[in-house]
Amino acid sequence: TVKETRMRTFNKSKKLDHVLYDVRGPVVQEAARMEAAGTNVLKLNIGNPAPFGFRTPDEVVYDMSQQLTESEGYSDSKGLFSARKAIMQYAQIKGLPNVTIDGIYTGNGVSELINLSMSALLDNGDEVLVPSPDYPLWTACVTLAGGKAVHYTCDEQSDWYPDINDMRAKITDKTKAIVIINPNNPTGALYPEEVLQQIVNVAREHQLMIFSDEIYDRLVMDGLKHTSIAAMAPDLFCVTFSGLSKSHMIAGYRIGWMILSGNKRIGRDYIEGLNMLTNMRICSNVPAQSIVQTALGGHQSVNDYIVPGGRIYEQREFIYEALNSIPGITAVKPKAAFYIFPKIDTKRFNITDDVQFALDLLRDEKVLVVQGTGFNWHEPDHFRVVYLPRVEVLSNAVGKLRHFFDGYHQ
Ligand code: PLP
Repeated sequence: TVKETRMRTFNKSKKLDHVLYDVRGPVVQEAARMEAAGTNVLKLNIGNPAPFGFRTPDEVVYDMSQQLTESEGYSDSKGLFSARKAIMQYAQIKGLPNVTIDGIYTGNGVSELINLSMSALLDNGDEVLVPSPDYPLWTACVTLAGGKAVHYTCDEQSDWYPDINDMRAKITDKTKAIVIINPNNPTGALYPEEVLQQIVNVAREHQLMIFSDEIYDRLVMDGLKHTSIAAMAPDLFCVTFSGLSKSHMIAGYRIGWMILSGNKRIGRDYIEGLNMLTNMRICSNVPAQSIVQTALGGHQSVNDYIVPGGRIYEQREFIYEALNSIPGITAVKPKAAFYIFPKIDTKRFNITDDVQFALDLLRDEKVLVVQGTGFNWHEPDHFRVVYLPRVEVLSNAVGKLRHFFDGYHQ
């Protein structure tokens, strides 16, 4: 008889056990199955401007075509000199203190740098304060690096600003850093200087690093001004993230950056770790780096979208009014980025599971949103809508939402 040998199976690393990234999770997989079967799905789930008709600025395309044949080789690990010089100037305009060219790193999107910055910092059990709701990559990268993401609440009653008392209450002797996302995904909040000052005070009192994700800093509406928290904290060690995915509608090119500022001396050893990981990935996409200088200089075409009459502004006006007109749904008006994070009256619809809600909405109305718990929100009472589609499409989507909620019961 043939001896039965048991087949060896390959399991995912235990490092992934508590890692969550539902923006592209199970509800999205169900949508993909439906699409493969020929169903048209209205996708309001991903912050990717290009498919909604937002085009790359002409000068960016021109610049890349000119430089493509010179971008074949690897660059310096941190990036091209021209790109980093342009980012340095951008940092200076935003008032970031003590920025030098060697403190500027380009990445394949901000995503890569979030991962790298957490991997270089955290030992098992180290804690990082992360907002709830958050852009879930932050929690995922803290967790993957062996750290513990401790969530502070952002308060819907106060325009979704961080609850400073909650932040303070969650600090322990293991806390190393505070993450803020400003402007915020998924809430669309923009933090005023008074709020930023309070966060700086907390970081100062407890000697914490600050990581500030500012990828939407050029997508601010209503004549408001974005302030980089790092500009208010010259005595602290800060890392500020931004990139071109959203401001230049080129999320597919994969170009972002991070800027070290403030008191870098206290981070000397950490910077060594960062540099090691940066060298190990060789460099970020060089053709995408080659257009940074052109993209950041001169006319910013994104500005035309965020003023009255511009697409993003008008789409925000529409979605805010339309969602709030659905019985059982309320939403705070976003001031920046292109997301809105409405609240569901869960009692009215008896909702206890928001993944189920998102699946039901998908199957009944063919509309895809991301459930609030996908952003590390603690209750099943929110969802995120990306309002990049044109008003006609949003109007259609809201009609479907209204129809869905009318009579929905879980
Ligand atoms: N940070 C925030 C808050 C985001 O919303 C996103 C993308 O949606 C990213 C970072 C990642 O952007 P990218 O990797 O394209 O630079």
